[in-house]
Amino acid sequence: MKKISVLGVTGSIGQQTVDVICHHRDEFELVAMSAGKNIELLEKTLTAVDTKIVCVIEKEDALYLQNKYPELTVVYGEEGLDYIATLPEVDVVLNAIVGFAGLLPTIHAIEHKKDIALANKETLVVAGHIITKLIKQYQVSLLPVDSEHSAIFQSLQGNKGNKIKRILLTASGGSFRDRTREELVGVSVKEALNHPNWSMGAKITIDSATMFNKGLEVIEAKWLFDVDYDQIQVIIHPESIVHSAVEYEDTSVMAQMGTPDMRLPIQYALTYPKREVLVNGESLDLISLGSLTFKKADFTRYKALQLAYHAGKIGGSLPCVLNGANEMANALFRDGKIEFLQIEDLVEKAMENHDVIADPTIEQLFEVDRWARNYVLQQIGE
Ligand code: NDP
Repeated sequence: MKKISVLGVTGSIGQQTVDVICHHRDEFELVAMSAGKNIELLEKTLTAVDTKIVCVIEKEDALYLQNKYPELTVVYGEEGLDYIATLPEVDVVLNAIVGFAGLLPTIHAIEHKKDIALANKETLVVAGHIITKLIKQYQVSLLPVDSEHSAIFQSLQGNKGNKIKRILLTASGGSFRDRTREELVGVSVKEALNHPNWSMGAKITIDSATMFNKGLEVIEAKWLFDVDYDQIQVIIHPESIVHSAVEYEDTSVMAQMGTPDMRLPIQYALTYPKREVLVNGESLDLISLGSLTFKKADFTRYKALQLAYHAGKIGGSLPCVLNGANEMANALFRDGKIEFLQIEDLVEKAMENHDVIADPTIEQLFEVDRWARNYVLQQIGE
């Protein structure tokens, strides 16, 4: 029985993880789970799956839950999150928190020798240099949940010792994939949230529309698979069927394909190296699809991609600035306070105005993250 702690259970990935766990009750035990502020959904989740410990952000929510569910242990805040990420009985921590908030629980879980199933890509973007060292030091495994990185990981199976020539990182192109840059002026939040292929949380859906999501994934891929940035090629693939691929030195390309369903990479991260039935999974019907299309990811059209490659290549604290500024600008756009195209402008300005720290510590990353968010707020007079 694999004992799991799910961080961010009320999110899109968190709920799909619960679905996977419920379909494999003989294999997985959900020991603990954390929500943010969505207590209604957390309570609904408690009716679907057994657990012993829950964590929420606010103390009042914790008191309410403890009173209503005396059989549960209810913890809260950062300390609570640390508690459920480091429980002695837990084998795997699946981190599906969105944003920088996922960083510390990942670090503490590794330091307590937990294997990590990582959806929270921001962890690797801001602190890849620290996480990769910790993984080696504590000899734990870090398995990707992001569909593209799971596809790359799957394409690497059976190829130990074979060098990667290139990673082909596919991108759906997000809600505005068919628009020119000029047509992005004045787009609404509702339009940006309308992703053609995937149903995801709000932040990542906006990140897909700006392409910051793919930029973050480029940096995530660099750390997960130990390749140079020049070895990672982003390719627009509107159908989201080829989830990504690896080219080897003999030019052979191994890809992982399938219908878009995040439960597959979630499940694979939990069952690896085994493959198991994906309950209600839809088989890929290539004949009905007829054709698959691919096109170049143009850096002029997708400025976010150019910024992410630049941040990654410079390294140090610059990816943390890219991430923090983007998280803030993304939230401001969703709140109707800035225009869509301002997101990338604000991130670019923050990056230009930052003095890069070559090998930042965790404490320095927290300062840099705060600085980047404040910088964006100041720029718009907030
Ligand atoms: P959601 O916004 O749907 O869910 C985020 C989860 O994190 C919720 O449970 C939320 O709680 C919780 N949360 C938010 N802020 C905090 C905080 N400060 N402290 C503790 N918990 C917090 O996000 P997604 O599920 O879409 O994405 C999660 C991560 O997975 C992201 O890093 C994303 O990039 C990545 N990912 C997502 C994919 C997807 O298909 N959705 C695909 C690949 C990667 P609450 O809602 O209760 O407030």
